[in-house]
Amino acid sequence: MTLDELGASLRDCQRCRLASKRTQVVFGIGNPNASILFIGEAPGFHEDKQGEPFVGAVGKLLTELLESAGLSRNDVYIANVIKCRPPDNRDPMPDEIETCKPFLMQQIELINPRVICTLGNFAIRTMLGKQVSITKIRGQQFEVQGFHVFPMLHPAAALHQGSFRALIQEDFQKLKIFLDNLPRPTSKSAEQMGLFG
Ligand code: SF4
Repeated sequence: MTLDELGASLRDCQRCRLASKRTQVVFGIGNPNASILFIGEAPGFHEDKQGEPFVGAVGKLLTELLESAGLSRNDVYIANVIKCRPPDNRDPMPDEIETCKPFLMQQIELINPRVICTLGNFAIRTMLGKQVSITKIRGQQFEVQGFHVFPMLHPAAALHQGSFRALIQEDFQKLKIFLDNLPRPTSKSAEQMGLFG
């Protein structure tokens, strides 16, 4: 199965209660061969309308943060833990995450990135399978099933709480240093990585 085929297979997904209120499934966007995958939480109002993760103000901020780390949206793939908008932007419920998680895992398998950057609490908890606090573990690096997992604050946090902006900028600077120090890839070409000039 390709990434496009997986996305198409979810277009009418009715597996959880979020199907009833969504406008559309927001599968993900970006380079299907990306070496860096960003995982957010869930689509919000604008994402639900446009069918793309991280649009509107939070998307603009993510684009700026990526650029500060020497990346562009075309270099990376961006997805969410769950693919449909929770009503009124409430937190995703545990059973919704469990139901949608296999599709995130399939995305990871198909993209096969070297680095997974999780944004916010829900993404890192989903990847680590335990209740951690992003404010305590941000900037650390974990190995999960052969992937480098790099937890970062969610850019929406900076929009809601201005004092978080400097912390998020710091996370992206740490990511830049981490990427600069990654050994050269062996299984994917350096050209595919787009990170080694
Ligand atoms: S959130 Fe995931 S499991 Fe639930 S309906 Fe949407 S695609 Fe299906």
